[in-house]
Amino acid sequence: MNKTDKVVELYDKYVMNTYKRVPLCFEKAEGSKVWDIDGNEYLDFFPGWAVSGIGHCHKKVVDAIARQAKKLMHVSNNYYSEAQALLAKKIVEHSFPGKVFFSNSGAEANEAAIKLARKYGNQTGRFEVITMLKSFHGRTLATITATGQEKVKVGFEPLPEGFKHVPYNDLEAVERAIGFNTIAIMLEPIQCEGGINIADKEYIKGLRRLCDEKDLVLIFDEVQTGMGRTGQMFAFKNFGVIPDVMTLAKSLGGGIPIAACVARGKFADVLTPGTHASTFGGSPLVCAAGLAVFEAIEKEKLLQNANAMAAYLRKKLEALKEKYDFIGQIRNMALVVGVELMVKGDEIYKECLESGLLINCTQDRILRIMPPLNVTKKEIDKAVAILNNVLSKIKKG
Ligand SMILES: *Cc1c(COP(=O)(O)O)cnc(C)c1O
Repeated sequence: MNKTDKVVELYDKYVMNTYKRVPLCFEKAEGSKVWDIDGNEYLDFFPGWAVSGIGHCHKKVVDAIARQAKKLMHVSNNYYSEAQALLAKKIVEHSFPGKVFFSNSGAEANEAAIKLARKYGNQTGRFEVITMLKSFHGRTLATITATGQEKVKVGFEPLPEGFKHVPYNDLEAVERAIGFNTIAIMLEPIQCEGGINIADKEYIKGLRRLCDEKDLVLIFDEVQTGMGRTGQMFAFKNFGVIPDVMTLAKSLGGGIPIAACVARGKFADVLTPGTHASTFGGSPLVCAAGLAVFEAIEKEKLLQNANAMAAYLRKKLEALKEKYDFIGQIRNMALVVGVELMVKGDEIYKECLESGLLINCTQDRILRIMPPLNVTKKEIDKAVAILNNVLSKIKKG
């Protein structure tokens, strides 16, 4: 029995079985590389569902955490901490004039956004949030209800009231769905779990117009697309539209659990003392990590690198598409990359893993590839070579 098998045995006995896991146990990582406890090396092109957006164990983040941990890790939010103030300032300066509420996970950031919208609508008796089919917003009761996929809801009924789903990228469907009770429209600018579905610019602009006309809150869930992944600090910047509320999590802390709900203008003061809180939210430790992530993206010019490497990766994937007729559309916005397959992707994902490349497969047929923003050409060459090798076997079989 190797070390991995021993850990798997402990999981079977002591850890709730809520995930489909592959028998891999990681011990350490650096940049785009990870090693398992039996010493095998992998190239990570899907680092922690996009959590390690600037690569694993980035030195600036590691140093910031170590420095802060020695000074002060947590204070309650009844007091002030400099790191939280500075990180909020940083997020606002990079997004839009407004204010930030900090929590610990994407679902919680979305809960804050939903509560904010409800609180705002309370004055006029409106409460309903329109969300999109195939969306993903988290696993709390409110956020599974917001999520436009049946599979996450089954068995948890009764669900909270006040959510309605419409097809993505369909402005008329949203228009039709808006009623007397509607208070917000919530969506991901790119549906990542949903299969890398990229919103049309005109659609996003239309949503903005609808929200302005009908006094609705436009909420962008940027939990996965935020922090440079789309080649801009936040995905909304690619659409020429500013949301009223934006949620962030995954890569905001460079590997540390931190999330944020950012609200613009008049929405920034909707949540008042006593209406929302989080014990751990925005502690000095996690905010120090968040500040280090921003510093790395700025100082190391990672947005430029992300755009350049995305173009390079896209070209190489297009070449694979030429070669293999079972590859459909390739969709990407910078380093949010989806490769559509006419065959099931599970096998390909597993074969890649066995060849030392970690990617993801979503919606059965979409390979999801999200290397860190500081990925190199050499690493892309290696990843695509592995993928090519795996695909060549699929072709024969
Ligand atoms: C991952 C994700 C969430 C949920 O975040 P958690 O930290 O798992 O609660 C919400 N929305 C989107 C778009 C996500 O990708």
